[in-house]
Amino acid sequence: MKDENCIFCKIANGEIPSATVYEDDRFRAILDMGPASKGHTLILPKEHFKDVCELDEEYASRVLGLGGRIGAAMKASLGCSGFNLVQNNGASAGQTVFHFHLHVIPRYDDGAPIVTWDPGSADIGELKETAERIHEAL
Ligand code: AMP
Ligand code: ZN
Repeated sequence: MKDENCIFCKIANGEIPSATVYEDDRFRAILDMGPASKGHTLILPKEHFKDVCELDEEYASRVLGLGGRIGAAMKASLGCSGFNLVQNNGASAGQTVFHFHLHVIPRYDDGAPIVTWDPGSADIGELKETAERIHEAL
């Protein structure tokens, strides 16, 4: 299913032009127009899924491998030494376009920090209690 009001549906299906890195029957990978680093790529399914919770198994089983392939190609072609796979779900997580996408972000040796956080702390009792709550909801 496509969503006619969704810009990523239109880009993924070629109705809006993009800098396309890769295309197959299920996905189009494009360069992000606000790149975190040179080569920042977005992998877009051609079907509309709001986020990872909606993604069907066929897409889910292929997207990670494609991210790895594109990351390896970035290392070979752009001179980055690593890459981050980033995938945001929900506004609080930084999602701004509500069509599933996987970011592939090249990382260069002299590059700015991109995906970072300050580690917190928790005791084992709290960790176990939290783990149990998540487990019960699965
Ligand atoms: P997220 O914050 O995970 O939802 O990521 C959305 C990403 O899409 C951002 O990095 C934007 O720069 C990028 N973006 C939004 N619109 C476009 C567009 N028309 N073409 C390319 N990238 C886009
Ligand atoms: Zn869409």
